[in-house]
Amino acid sequence: MNAANVLEDLKRRFPNEPEYHQAVAVVLNSIEEAYNKHPEFDKANLVERLCIPDRIYQFRVTWTDDKGDVQTNMGYRIQHNNAIGPYKGGIRYHASVNLGILKFLAFEQTFKNSLTTLPMGGAKGGSDFSPRGKSNAEIMRFCQAFMTELWRYVGPEEDVPAGDIGVGGREVGYLFGMYKKLSHEFSGTFTGKGREFGGSLVRPEATGYGNIYFLTEMLHTKGLDIKGKTCLVSGSGNVAQYTVEKVIQLGGKVVTMSDSDGYIYDPEGIDRGKLDYIMELKNLYRGRIREYAEKYGVKYVAGAKPWSEKAEIALPSATQNEIDEEAARQLVDNGVIAVSEGANMPCTTEAIDVFQKARILYAPGKAANAGGVSVSGLEMTQNAEHLSWTAAEVDTRLHGIMKSIHEACVQYGTEADGYVNYVKGANVAGFMKVAKAMMAQGIL
Ligand code: GLU
Repeated sequence: MNAANVLEDLKRRFPNEPEYHQAVAVVLNSIEEAYNKHPEFDKANLVERLCIPDRIYQFRVTWTDDKGDVQTNMGYRIQHNNAIGPYKGGIRYHASVNLGILKFLAFEQTFKNSLTTLPMGGAKGGSDFSPRGKSNAEIMRFCQAFMTELWRYVGPEEDVPAGDIGVGGREVGYLFGMYKKLSHEFSGTFTGKGREFGGSLVRPEATGYGNIYFLTEMLHTKGLDIKGKTCLVSGSGNVAQYTVEKVIQLGGKVVTMSDSDGYIYDPEGIDRGKLDYIMELKNLYRGRIREYAEKYGVKYVAGAKPWSEKAEIALPSATQNEIDEEAARQLVDNGVIAVSEGANMPCTTEAIDVFQKARILYAPGKAANAGGVSVSGLEMTQNAEHLSWTAAEVDTRLHGIMKSIHEACVQYGTEADGYVNYVKGANVAGFMKVAKAMMAQGIL
């Protein structure tokens, strides 16, 4: 396999999908050497079979808004790969959603899920529906309409969706309710459910907590920890909120959070009380982060991201490509020692290059943010055995999984000079398991 040629061919066959090309390029460049040590992989054309999704469902979603106007959106489900377990991955509702973005996410999910040590394949779904400014009733009608199409293609042993940007506990509840009604079964078809109906404890916290567990492991390799360190967090949704919670618990200081309109800078640090305010603001009132600056009298920067602020740790937890080359340089110039991705692909390829050349600790999302889908995997297990575990049990398992993902990255990513290339480590470790499973199951 020649990574550059495979990529060129995919670009020709699937043009106008830049995020998908970006995600594929990073993985192919990482795995090229390991792949080429196995001539049997190339004989089975494993590389194309791994890059191109197993199947894609696309459908129109029609719903009626509060004014009585009939609206249409696009709905998608990408079932990327089920070599190691049922398809698994979240659903994203955001105006920017298109096929290329969901293809990148489903591709990434396949390697991420492989790293979790749990048996889950990779998938992703979503819609260009924007939840922003929508009433609760509109959200419910949209979720129900979305599910009238999707329900045929998902199931506890087939494909298990969950949340992502724009889809949280409320939306999963509505989606699951409609699934249950249409399928006539109560099963673990969704994860991230409410805890009264089969949801796992610690699932809401899992992505953010997991990222900090992973970061802690990285810092330990340098004899450091998070205590007393200043952190930049972007985003203010589920991942960002529980990232901040864990940093506070471990004695670190978070000085920024953001939303798509801008960011706040609080030099004193966001403490427990202030975080409670953000959680209420975002989860209950669905307000804007600007209101934090007004309430606490701190700086608010409209239309910008927090990466020009000085800190030792950066935790991008908003969305893809939120750190570009220039932002990465600013972070490095300001003395950042670690970047750990809570979001999926928040750093551009050029930004990753800057971090790696500076030899700082840099963890890609498919390793660092795998805690969310890991606890989803634990939710599937609990549903299958009709039991629910304590928060302590789930958290202990999550911690163990994040440690083992870190170990796998070190095993596959340590370079000759001792620098751990977490991108290579995560990609090769994730790839090898899927590749072996595909080889064992024949040409499909
Ligand atoms: N959307 C999350 C992710 O990017 C979680 C997916 C899941 O729990 O299935 O990994």
